[in-house]
Amino acid sequence: MPDPQPVLYLAAPRGFCAGVDRAIDIVEMALRVYGPPVWVRHEIVHNRHVVDDLRRKGAVFTDDLTEVPAGAVVIFSAHGVSPAVRREARERGLKALDATCPLVTKVHLEALRHAKDGTTIVLVGHRHHVEVQGTLGEAPESIVVVETPAEADTVEVRDPSRVAYITQTTLSVDDCRAIVEVLKRRFPAIREPAKDDICYATQNRQNAVKELSRRCAAILVVGAPASSNANRLVEVAKAAGAQAWLIESAEDIRPEWLAGGGNVGVTAGASTPEDIVQACVAHVCELGGHRVEAFRLVEERVMFPLPGELLSMAKEKGVEVGAGNERAAARAAVEFPVKHH
Ligand code: SF4
Repeated sequence: MPDPQPVLYLAAPRGFCAGVDRAIDIVEMALRVYGPPVWVRHEIVHNRHVVDDLRRKGAVFTDDLTEVPAGAVVIFSAHGVSPAVRREARERGLKALDATCPLVTKVHLEALRHAKDGTTIVLVGHRHHVEVQGTLGEAPESIVVVETPAEADTVEVRDPSRVAYITQTTLSVDDCRAIVEVLKRRFPAIREPAKDDICYATQNRQNAVKELSRRCAAILVVGAPASSNANRLVEVAKAAGAQAWLIESAEDIRPEWLAGGGNVGVTAGASTPEDIVQACVAHVCELGGHRVEAFRLVEERVMFPLPGELLSMAKEKGVEVGAGNERAAARAAVEFPVKHH
């Protein structure tokens, strides 16, 4: 007899990545070390729940450094900033703390290295995304941004024998591959990143949702409309044949999505807090009577250290730091009442 109870498969890995954990830890620790208000350039990560929570604790978010009073603490978001923004902060006498994800910094350094030896850099990514703007700012005269295979087919470079490509960290792996194929056909000597620029968290979440889309009629991706990797998860699920929706919270779930009575997959972008995911899971179970099962593809054990200067200040002021990355440790401790695959 087939089991009539539909299953909610909860993807793992999902939600917060090491870069997001670190960025939030930096803001929280800066609030404890320096006291509020602490200014943050841009949303620290693209999630309004995270931003609202930090705002309540005393963080002030702005996209305009001229709003930050001289001498104040300003934190650069996980997406990274261009050298012009760093310069502006210095010139205005701000105390800057950098929450740029180390995997974004790696891409900035690749851009700089190629620009120094006169190579034209094709940056594959979404030109209006804040991460791409930051990377572009490293060497604007040497970088061209390409968003689609059609653009890759027509992009002009100074010298076709001296070309490299780098990518945004949160692209769709499959879409990026299609663009890179065009670039390789046009520029056979093109230099590639030594290791993928699309980060481990993006790849793992996409791989998991792709698998889930094979066993679920509907996929719910919990994340913000501004989150690049959450939007890519929806696209990956749709490309794999499932119906998929981006939801910000449990209230966005529409009963008709579950009306077919089939299995549902739930995942979350890298900037989505776990309590929001859990509320969505509970709501689906309430609406559709689903049984929850974890669907884990890989274990993630990545952690990034906090900035040394923040740790030193915490020590100087007697602020407790905790053992490494507090948020990641807390996440590892979350238990689910679920059967594991
Ligand atoms: Fe870093 Fe990837 Fe997380 Fe972005 S999604 S913060 S690049 S680990």
